[in-house]
Amino acid sequence: MVPVATTAGPDFDIIVAGGGMIGTSLAVALGPLGLSVAVIEPVPPNEAEQPSFDERSTALSRSSQRMFEAMGLWPDIVAGATSIQSIHVSEKGRFGFSHIDAAEQGVEALGYVVINRVLGEVLKDALSQLKNVRLYCPAKITAVSQSDDTVTVRLEAGQEYGREFDSLACRLLVAADGARSTVREMLGIGASSRDYGQQAITGNLLPEIRPENRAFERFTDTGPIALLPIADNRAAFIWMLPTDRARSVMELSDPSFTEALQQAFGFRLGSFSKVGRRAAYPLALTRANSLTARRGVLVGNAAHGLHPVAAQGFNLGLRDVAALCDCLLDAMNNAAAPGSDPGSPQVLESYAGWRHPDHSKVVQFTDGLVRLFGDQRWPLKFMRNAGMLGFDLIPGVRSLFARHTMGLAGRLPRLSRGVPLR
Ligand SMILES: Cc1cc2nc3c(=O)[nH]c(=O)nc-3n(C[C@H](O)[C@H](O)[C@H](O)COP(=O)(O)OP(=O)(O)OC[C@H]3O[C@@H](n4cnc5c(N)ncnc54)[C@H](O)[C@@H]3O)c2cc1C
Repeated sequence: MVPVATTAGPDFDIIVAGGGMIGTSLAVALGPLGLSVAVIEPVPPNEAEQPSFDERSTALSRSSQRMFEAMGLWPDIVAGATSIQSIHVSEKGRFGFSHIDAAEQGVEALGYVVINRVLGEVLKDALSQLKNVRLYCPAKITAVSQSDDTVTVRLEAGQEYGREFDSLACRLLVAADGARSTVREMLGIGASSRDYGQQAITGNLLPEIRPENRAFERFTDTGPIALLPIADNRAAFIWMLPTDRARSVMELSDPSFTEALQQAFGFRLGSFSKVGRRAAYPLALTRANSLTARRGVLVGNAAHGLHPVAAQGFNLGLRDVAALCDCLLDAMNNAAAPGSDPGSPQVLESYAGWRHPDHSKVVQFTDGLVRLFGDQRWPLKFMRNAGMLGFDLIPGVRSLFARHTMGLAGRLPRLSRGVPLR
């Protein structure tokens, strides 16, 4: 990266800071609106350290599936995805458990598991075909200045772009640069962050018994373990552990790691073998103090970084994307306000008002799960068992839970309902 002399580049309607899972999804979703869009991403696409499109598996909810269907991307995504037909939730050493089934919920699948890298290939391919969207990569935003009419971003650009210019202007700047967003800070929006003191270890393995489209969430004394079905009868695991324990588990040899994971998960899927490459992610709850600033808006992890216990972060971020697209489209269709300024206070207010309730609900849900299952005192253990039984026995409760995890609760934007924008 080399700083260069100040030269202004082209103006855009929208600049998206961050070309990760959410920034790229947003840029592709905006395609049909015909707005001029720039995406700015510091990490080159095929670098091993690309932080968003890595080897993690993501469970896509039903509303995310509908959204990709409406964007015309679903056939390519589903070709590399595995459906979830049931979810089995249990706690190690306790009698209560719960079970959610796609057939019982009247849906063809509860969700789909896709490798982030595979999803990234589909999204990046779609992005490259859009004439109104330009990707600047590698390029990093180092400063932001807002006025009533525009936002200017200063770039520390890669050499290939650095020779051209070092600033771009737009009418709306979208921060999609992740939970530790610096663009959020540059827009003047503060955030609170609570470290869970845990890390998630991810990877995949071969279980003796085929997962057959079943997902498992198992709560243990040291943290939850999720096993998700993926291709070739393998399962992706996400093992959440206190930080010290996670560090020592990461240092284990493959056979010792396999044994430790097996002990923690049990033998519901028989013996584990052939564990793939592991990665560890520190876990924190991060919430922005506001979703908007003058001519600026936050989406995805820049707005909310969640614990992965309920597989909600990306799905929630996609609903941000869908809602922002709706607000922009409504502004463009509003004949009473010609010009359709994408960064107008009306657009920003309607976006923030729409997204707040969904964010609060999902944060409460995921944080509540971490607290409930992270506490080993016996009254809570009792409540957990009673809770799981009640969950199965009380009519409607499981269905409501399922609707939330499928992302189908509350007021849904067009794309999340599967309605194409144009
Ligand atoms: C172990 C684990 C498992 C998960 N499983 C699930 C799941 O099953 N389902 C689910 O819905 N969610 C899941 N999540 C959450 C999900 O991964 C995140 O919500 C999602 O990656 C957020 O995407 P993002 O694009 O907002 O942020 P990120 O993925 O963090 O991407 C941010 C991008 O911004 C770029 N950037 C950084 N700084 C700048 C800058 N200054 N200027 C421009 N660009 C910049 C980065 O290079 C990166 O490409 C999981 C998370 C973890 C840790």
